[in-house]
Amino acid sequence: SKELKFKNEKVLKYLPESPERKELEAELINLKNSLVDIPVIINGKEIRTGNKGQCILPHNKNKVIGEYHKAGKKEVEMAIEAALKAKANWESLHWESRVAIFMKAAELASGKWRAKLNAATMLCQGKTYKQAEIDSACELIDFMRYNASCLHQIYSEQPISSDGIWNRTEYRPLEGFIFAVSPFNFTAIGSNLVGAPVIAGNTALWKPAAVAVYSAYLVFKLFQEAGIPDGVINFIPGNSQDIGDLILTNENLSGIHFTGSTKVFQDMWRSVGTNIDKYKTFPRLVGETGGKNFVIGHASANIEALSRGLLEGAFEYQGQKCSAASRAYIASSIWTEVKENLLEKVRNVKIGDVEDFNNFMGAVIDKKAFESITSYIEFVKNSDEAEIIIGGKYDDSIGYFIEPTIVVTNNPHLRTMEEEIFGPVLTIYVYKDEDFADTLRLCDSTSKYGLTGSIFAVDRYAIAQAENELVNAAGNFYINDRPTGAVVGQQPFGGARLSGTNDKAGSKINLMRWMSIRAIKEKL
Ligand code: GLU
Repeated sequence: SKELKFKNEKVLKYLPESPERKELEAELINLKNSLVDIPVIINGKEIRTGNKGQCILPHNKNKVIGEYHKAGKKEVEMAIEAALKAKANWESLHWESRVAIFMKAAELASGKWRAKLNAATMLCQGKTYKQAEIDSACELIDFMRYNASCLHQIYSEQPISSDGIWNRTEYRPLEGFIFAVSPFNFTAIGSNLVGAPVIAGNTALWKPAAVAVYSAYLVFKLFQEAGIPDGVINFIPGNSQDIGDLILTNENLSGIHFTGSTKVFQDMWRSVGTNIDKYKTFPRLVGETGGKNFVIGHASANIEALSRGLLEGAFEYQGQKCSAASRAYIASSIWTEVKENLLEKVRNVKIGDVEDFNNFMGAVIDKKAFESITSYIEFVKNSDEAEIIIGGKYDDSIGYFIEPTIVVTNNPHLRTMEEEIFGPVLTIYVYKDEDFADTLRLCDSTSKYGLTGSIFAVDRYAIAQAENELVNAAGNFYINDRPTGAVVGQQPFGGARLSGTNDKAGSKINLMRWMSIRAIKEKL
C-alpha cells in the first residue's frame, strides 16, 4: 500500500564542535550581520508597500536584523483574489502531489534550511538553541510529515457499499479561502496553521505575529522552494486592525485557523457572528488560545521529578508557551524538600543572550510583554497574601530580561493563581495532605482555561483521582512530567474551555476541520 509511516524527527544535540553546532553558529552570525527586507507575497509576487515594521532581538532591543512591509487593504483584497483564483488548480491536484510538496518541505527543513530556521527563531523570538530545535526544526518537520500520513489515512476511509450500490466519500476542501493567524511563540505552529488547511486542498492568507515575521517569512520561502504553487499561500504581515475587518467580512471566508490570545479569538467569533449573513458558508473557527496550566504535587511525588517539572514547565522559553506551568499546588508534607530542591535549581539557571549556548533562558518577547509580566511581579510585591521566594528582579536596559520568579501564596485565588501571565512567574499554593481531594476541586474550579496540567505522584489512587476530577481542566494531561513540550503524533495538542476549540494541532481531527465531505451514492 501507499501508506506513509510517520516517525518523529530526531532532536539534534548541538554539542560543541559538532557539525550542526558550527552550522548554527555561522548562521547566527550571518543573520545578525545582515538586514533582510521582507515583502508581502501575493500570488508569488513580492510587494513592497513601504509601510514598514522591524525585526528586533528581544535580548538586544536596539539590534534590528530585518524590516518587513505591512499589507494594507489593497494587498488584502489582492490576496483574497489570488487565494480564490489559485483554489481551482490546487484542489484538483491529486492529493499525493500536495503531500509531495510537504514531504519535500520537511526534507529541506531537516537539512539545508534547519540552521537558518533555528537561527531566526532564536534571534527574533528569543529562544535558546534547545527550544528552537524542538520548535522550528523538529515540530515543524513533524507537523508536515504527520499531516501527510493522516491525510493518507483519512482519504482511504471509505463507506461500505451494498448490493447494486457503490458508495464513496470525497474529502473535499472547504469552498472559499482560509485565514491563518499565527503567534510569536512557535515557528512550527505558524507552519501548521497554514499548512494543515493547505495540505487538505485549501488556499490561504497567512498573517504571522509582528514579532515573528522573520521566521514566518523563512517558512514561506521554504514552502516556495518545495514547490507550493503561486497564490496557494499568500503572506500578509501587518496590523490586524488594518486588515482584519476586510477579511472577516468577506463572503468567501471559509475558516480561521488561529493560535493566540483568548481575547482576540473571542473578538473573531463576535465579528463572524455579526457578519453571519454575509458569508456563503458557516466559517469554521479553529483556535488554540490561553492557558493557566497547573502542576499538582501529591505527598507521594518524587521530589526530584516534581522540582524538575516545575523548573522546566514554568521557565523554559521564559514561560511563554501556552502550555507553561504557572500555578502549582504542593502537599505540605513534601513542601520543604521541594522548595529546597527547586530553589537550588533556579539559582543555577543561566539567563542571558540566546546566542550563548550555555544559557537556559533568554529575554521575553517585547516591551509590551515585559510591562505586562512585571506588573504582576509588582502586584505580588505589594500584596500581603504572597511572597516572592526567588527572583522578582527585571531589567530592560539592553533586552527584556525578567528573572525566573516564584511566588508562594496562602490565597488560592490570588490574581497570579488565576490569570494568564505568559512569562516566567510561577505561583505556588501549599495544601494540607489531607485536603488533596478538595485541592483537586479547587484546581478545577479556579481556572476558566483548560489547556494543560500535570500531576506528580507515585500513589496510583491519587493519580486516578486527579485524572477523574480534572477531566475538563486540561486537554493535555501529564502524569509525572511537565505540562509543556507536546510531541506531534504522540500527544495531540489543545484544550477546551477558554483555551480554544480543542481541535488538536497535529491530528486527523484538525485536518478534517478543513474538509467538506461529499458522500456519493451510485445505483449500479
Ligand atoms: N505545543 C506546545 C507545548 O506543548 C505549546 C504550544 C503553544 O504555546 O501554543 O508546549
